[in-house]
Amino acid sequence: MDKLKPIPYGRQSIDKADIEMVSNVLKTDWLTTGPMVKQFEDAVATYCRSRYAVAVNSGTAALHCAMYAIGIGPGDEVIVPPMTFAATANAVVYQKGTPVFADVYPDTLLINPSEVEKKITPKTRAVVAVDYAGQSCDYDTLRQIADDHQLFLIADACHSIGGSFRDRRVGSCADLNIFSFHPVKHITTGEGGMVTTNDKSLADRMQRFRNHGISRDAAQRQAADSWEYEIEELGFNYRLTDFQCALGLSQLKKLDTWIKKRNEIAKKYTHFFSTRDLVSPLKKHNDIVHAYHLYIVQLDFEKIGKSKPEVFSEFKSLGIHLNVHYIPVHLHPFYRKNFATFKGLCPVSETAYEKILSIPVFPAMSREDIYRVCSAFAGLLPGT
Ligand SMILES: *Cc1c(COP(=O)(O)O)cnc(C)c1O
Repeated sequence: MDKLKPIPYGRQSIDKADIEMVSNVLKTDWLTTGPMVKQFEDAVATYCRSRYAVAVNSGTAALHCAMYAIGIGPGDEVIVPPMTFAATANAVVYQKGTPVFADVYPDTLLINPSEVEKKITPKTRAVVAVDYAGQSCDYDTLRQIADDHQLFLIADACHSIGGSFRDRRVGSCADLNIFSFHPVKHITTGEGGMVTTNDKSLADRMQRFRNHGISRDAAQRQAADSWEYEIEELGFNYRLTDFQCALGLSQLKKLDTWIKKRNEIAKKYTHFFSTRDLVSPLKKHNDIVHAYHLYIVQLDFEKIGKSKPEVFSEFKSLGIHLNVHYIPVHLHPFYRKNFATFKGLCPVSETAYEKILSIPVFPAMSREDIYRVCSAFAGLLPGT
């Protein structure tokens, strides 16, 4: 019976310390827009070696803040990869900009800088790099391109907190760096997100944007003993609560241990797959610390003689839950209809989509869990 205990592709870890931190905040006066928000922001900024951090209530809101802060509007183009969660591109559309898709490398599924260059037009304003699966993009080459063309460089680092690129921590590689604290990500606040930056004026704009465009927040008004505020621009309510920030602070303490654990699991998988011809993990570069939000394998379904849905249900019957990250964003009907995207636009992503599977990786995975996943693959592959 225990053999069938389901193994999800990812899940959160919550301990007593987390629960205590949250319940302590629930006993205070500040449930939202209080001291915990600043503490969490400072802790993440320090961790990432970035100057400023702005907490918001989702990774999607963080992307929207970023697009707003750099002034994306009608007519502006923003280059994004198709191998990402749709929110990366959707945030451009929230600001009435146009997402332009640049294809990825076949071995890492990270955005390919030479594809980015091909997509630059006089209307291009920014490039969003997605640290797919937890591996950092080539921020040196992307920086060069961004500087040459006077573009903003944005890192969608929702997969890569805790990782690094060369001597830089994730969160300090681009002009604006985006995090998500959804339960499936490395550290969670339930829902939540953050943007880190070294640019004070961008940070200020995002702080106003998350709070209706109001010049002073509640704490600032209280400190100034004044009811006065002004709406200077149109914003949203994207605020993150204090008890969520308390959870985030508590989780952040464990991030390094968890990244290590994820790397240990990945190492075991990589070793296991190294002798299997029909399954290949993505390539990992040597000059990065991989955060392994996902462990992706590419399968030759044709040679295995089974379809993706068949493999899915076979694994499910063994209690192993697989996933696919992602359906290339430009193939979604919304993008086809509104941005005239089509099959064939990004062939590398489209071919990869046919082959990829996300297999379980999360810090609480036991040796037995890893063994079960590997055994399921051994059973799937002829002659292994
Ligand atoms: C999770 C994720 C987001 C969105 O974050 P939410 O907190 O779910 O809004 C955006 N981009 C990528 C790459 C993600 O993985």
